[in-house]
Parts: sequence; C-alpha cells; structure tokens
Amino acid sequence: MTTISVRNPRTGETDAWITPPTGEELDVVAARLRAAQGSWAGEGIEARMQRLLRWADAMHADLDKIAAALEADTGRRRVARLEVQGAVASIRAWAASAPMLAPKADWLQGRSNPQLKHSGQFVPFGLVGVISPWNFPLTLSLIDAIPALAAGSSVIVKPSEVTPRFVEPLARTIELAGLSDLLAFTPGAGETGQAVIERADLICFTGSVPTGKKVAAAAAERLIPAFLELGGKDPMIITETADLDLAVTAALRGSVVSTGQACQSIERIYVARALHEVFLAKLIAGAEAVRLNWPSIEEGELGPLIFDKQAEIIAAQIEDARSKGAFIHTGGRIESHGGGRWIRPTVISNVDHSMSVMTEETFGPVLPVMAFDTIEEAIRLANDTDYGLSAAVFAGTLGDAEAIARKLDAGAVSLNDAALTALFYEAEKQSFKASGLGPSRMGAAGLTRFFRRKALIANTGAPLPLEAFKEEG
Ligand code: NDP
Repeated sequence: MTTISVRNPRTGETDAWITPPTGEELDVVAARLRAAQGSWAGEGIEARMQRLLRWADAMHADLDKIAAALEADTGRRRVARLEVQGAVASIRAWAASAPMLAPKADWLQGRSNPQLKHSGQFVPFGLVGVISPWNFPLTLSLIDAIPALAAGSSVIVKPSEVTPRFVEPLARTIELAGLSDLLAFTPGAGETGQAVIERADLICFTGSVPTGKKVAAAAAERLIPAFLELGGKDPMIITETADLDLAVTAALRGSVVSTGQACQSIERIYVARALHEVFLAKLIAGAEAVRLNWPSIEEGELGPLIFDKQAEIIAAQIEDARSKGAFIHTGGRIESHGGGRWIRPTVISNVDHSMSVMTEETFGPVLPVMAFDTIEEAIRLANDTDYGLSAAVFAGTLGDAEAIARKLDAGAVSLNDAALTALFYEAEKQSFKASGLGPSRMGAAGLTRFFRRKALIANTGAPLPLEAFKEEG
C-alpha cells in the first residue's frame, strides 16, 4: 500500500503520513477483534462499563496529547479540547445509563396460544465497522464506537485520511485500558473504508451523501446493515414574533461554530419580511465581529477550512449566487493566511432556490437569508430540499415554534435555538430523506441498535403432530 501524505490545515504543509494496511493485515486485525468479542459480550454490561471507564480515565489523563494532535488535524484549539472532554463525558454518561437501558426480556405466556411462552435474547453484532469524516475526527469516530462496545460488540474504526493524527495518542489510551483487542483504528482512505465494510457485521457511517450511497451499496452486497448519518442543508425559520437578538445569536453560532463544518450547521435562513432588514443588519454586524484564530490559535472564533478542497465548493456556491443576483454583504472570499485557507462568516441576501447556496450542502460559515410573507411559505421553502437532517424555528412562544416544527420534514428541530443536536444527545432522532438511514444514534436507541433480538419460544405442552395439518381435516 502506498503512503498517504496529510496536509496541515493551518500551514498547508504536509506534516503527517499514514500507511493503509494491506488486505491481509486488515484480516489479522479483524480476526483479533472477533476472537475477543465473544468473551467481551459474555462479561456483562456492568463489567464492560468498568473497563470503558478505565479508558475514559486514561483519555482524561492524556487529554493534552490527544487535543494537541486533534489541533494539528483541525487547526482549532478550543473545539479540539472540547472533543476530548466530550468523549470522556460520553463514556461516563453511557456507564451511568447503559446498564439500565440494555434490553432484557422476561418469559411471557403466549396470548394466541397459552401453551407456548416466549422470551428474548439480545445479541450484539460481532464486529462493528465505523467510518468517520474529518470535521469532528474524534467525536465522530467514537459516537458509535462507545455504545457499540457497551453493547458487547468489538469495533474497527476507519477515520478520515484528512485528519488521522489523533489516532496515535488515542491508541495509547486504548492500550492502557486493556481494550486493544476490542477496539482498533485502521488508517486509510476510501479503499480502506470499503475493506472495512467487507470485514464487518454492521457499518456505522458518517459522511457525505455520495459516499453514503457507495457504503450502502457495498453493505447491501454483503447483506449487512448500514446506519448512515449523512449531510444536511438545515433551514432556520424566524417568525415575526421572534426575539431578534436571540435569533441572531443562535443563527450566528449555529452557522459559524467550527467554521460551519458541521452536519447540523444552519445553512439557510428564512425570516419574516417585517424583520428582514433589521435582522440582516444585526446578522452582518455579528458576522463582521467574528475573528479568525490566526495568526494566534489562542484568539478568535473561526478556524481554517480543514479540507482544502472544501474551499472550492464554498467559493463556487457563493459565485453562483452572486451571478444570479444575490448580494454578498460580508465575507464571501476565501482568504489564505500562512498556508491555510479561511472564509469569514458570509451573509448573503436576495437569494432564492435557483441558487446552489440554498439547495446544496455548503459546509462553511455561509448564511443566506431569504424573506417570507406567510408561515406556510416559510414551511414550504424549508421543506424544499433533498435533505432532512435537522432544522430550527425561532418564534415568540415555544408553542408557536412547535406548531411550525411539527410541519418540518427533518429528523430534529431546535425550538428557539439552533443546532441543538450538537449540544444535546438525549433526544432520539432519525435522519429524514437523503440525510441518512437507520435507527437513532442519540438517546436509548444509540445503545439498543447494536443488539439483534433473538426469540426463545418454549412449548409447555406436547408438540403438534403432523396429522394436525393433514388435508382431510
Ligand atoms: P466523506 O463522505 O467524503 O467521507 C466520510 C468517510 O468515508 C471518510 O472516512 C472517507 O475516507 C470514507 N470514504 C470515502 N470513500 C469511501 C468509500 N468509497 N467507501 C467507504 N468509505 C469511504 O465525508 P467527509 O469526510 O467529507 O465529511 C463531511 C460530510 O459528513 C458532510 O456531508 C457532513 O454533512 C457529513 N456529516 C454528517 C454527520 C451526521 O451526523 N449526519 C455528522 C458530521 C458530518 P477519506 O476521508 O479518508 O477519503
């Protein structure tokens, strides 16, 4: 296998290299994980959670090292630390809740036939394959891996080739916790992702819609389930009665945090016409106050674009909008600093759905704003998309916001805030339309989706003889 070089998002320089495994090497890893999985599942969930808590402690102790590697991967410091802290907190939260949430079944007497009684066994998938993207490299590698391990599966993770540096310090903590035979990371690009699909019993994929389709097709070929968490084009509706300042705060954070490189970013805003001008003015002022985290990574709110090719996609969408008559009020230009590429928060008005910035995933801090005249129009516009990941509604009361939210075709809706699924993991949600497939990774289903239910059906009397089905009867 050839070595893959990795670009640093702040310097533009190649400063890391990964070597994907050969097929034979991956076979060895998969066999090791499979061999350990049976006794792991047999340990019981309390014992498994104790082992995972040791891992959380090891991760906490190495927070600085893992965060430093993630910082090099993503070009941002604060969010890198938050990712590690979030992973530690996630293990601890699962440790507290998983033993209660793990499904159990009693023996029940049959209703249709009281001679029969039935129970169930919940059997974890053997080897779970996780394929993760570059935008939150640690979080999205572990968000499925932790509950899969808790359920009793072993896990192989293929992180993005764009952001692989965090794996080395993380692997040390996995080893320290004695989990190396149950959780392995494998470096590589798309080919290695396919190789993981060929060896796993279930795939958890987070990434773009086009790659998600390839993953689904490969999984279908093997008849294994694929849980797909894909892209979005999240709308935000702001009604005439909304608190304008709070709406601006939520829109700005929902769009700009992590440089808009988040699936649940706010990517289009529909605002009541009566508020349009003043909302726009406040949003522009907020956008202009955002600072790059360059030259010092210790200041500012906005990191570089992690994946340099994303810059072309963002620039092309802005140019498409400009060429069709949109006004770019602020931002709008890819900037190069010290070898990295940045884009400042970009507020756009006079937009419509003929523009790609209103219909295609941007994955950057771009806020196109469109006025609406009626709530029905706002709902129609918000639903006019191939995506259905999440959405946001700001209204004068939560009741008004809820009434609109119930009509939106999306898997989660933030009421009087934006992008709450990034901050709150307890509410179950599924992706609608092209934004994904499979059960919720949030809430209790985040754990229970890793079990297959086996039925145990017992006959308390004599079995039926063949004569019971004879034609003469
Ligand atoms: P990609 O779809 O490009 O890649 C995701 C992962 O799939 C990477 O590890 C990638 O490897 C791998 N991969 C690429 N080709 C294949 C293949 N043929 N078979 C198997 N695996 C493959 O997504 P990005 O990394 O660009 O991430 C951004 C996307 O992720 C956005 O669309 C975003 O909305 C979505 N996302 C969705 C979330 C959700 O919860 N719904 C959360 C966060 C992001 P490599 O990178 O090494 O090529």
